[in-house]
Amino acid sequence: MIEFKEVEKRYPNGYLALQQINLQIEQGEFVAIIGLSGAGKSTLLRCINKMHDITGGTLHVNDVNVHRLKGKGIRHLRRNIGMIFQSFNLVTRVSVLQNVLVSFVPTMPAWRKILGIFTKEEKRKALMALDQVGILDKAYVRVDQLSGGQQQRVALARTLAQNPQIILADEPVASLDPVTAKQVMEDFKRINQELSMTILINIHHVDLALAYATRVIGVRGGEIVFDGQADEINEET
Ligand code: ADP
Ligand code: ADP
Repeated sequence: MIEFKEVEKRYPNGYLALQQINLQIEQGEFVAIIGLSGAGKSTLLRCINKMHDITGGTLHVNDVNVHRLKGKGIRHLRRNIGMIFQSFNLVTRVSVLQNVLVSFVPTMPAWRKILGIFTKEEKRKALMALDQVGILDKAYVRVDQLSGGQQQRVALARTLAQNPQIILADEPVASLDPVTAKQVMEDFKRINQELSMTILINIHHVDLALAYATRVIGVRGGEIVFDGQADEINEET
């Protein structure tokens, strides 16, 4: 469903961040992309939802050539792909539920966006997403009153409510303490297993990658240096 063929990404300043990327990811996989800072992990992830444009090769998502997409096509692609960041990207001064409800905004008519009116069905879906990540009891709490781990769960719930086929997570546990990081990885694992969502996660903790993902891809200097099942890979890389 995600297919890279000889993909290259050169930034406008001439820096070659990705080269000769050949990769095929099937529906329902839980993939961890590991590598040192600057290896190209984030660039790789961001090409998939066209936050970055590739400069060579081809990239298909569900048989659609991502490079050719424009306006409406890009919006459609992104509705199908949830994105999660290290920094959560939440509105901290409003409630958890309001943050999750925002995931319905792109499909709402303008007058409803302005008034912030949501249907019962949207509210039900938002609450269900909060339940899936175990923070239903925080629905009416302001985001700035939550811990980092709880905030990342809100971000995850917001993405789930969008009901994407694919979740891209760029260093989602990098700013969390080890215990909380494990809990968030558990959430990803459960979502992958229960909802069959395809998950690609950038992570620089090799041990967490091996413990939770089913497939681990190593990136170094913009190239894939290994790709295998988590249980085949040992510590020496
Ligand atoms: P990682 O996620 O593995 O830390 P990145 O994909 O963020 O790596 O970055 C890979 C390389 O590309 C780094 O050397 C980084 O400095 C460079 N890079 C990232 N974004 C840009 C950009 N917009 N312009 C030029 N170089 C960039
Ligand atoms: P993150 O840690 O969230 O990956 P970074 O701090 O690496 O973000 O980069 C922030 C922004 O700066 C990104 O949009 C990235 O593409 C860009 N960037 C990173 N490295 C470079 C670089 N060497 N030259 C130009 N832009 C860069």
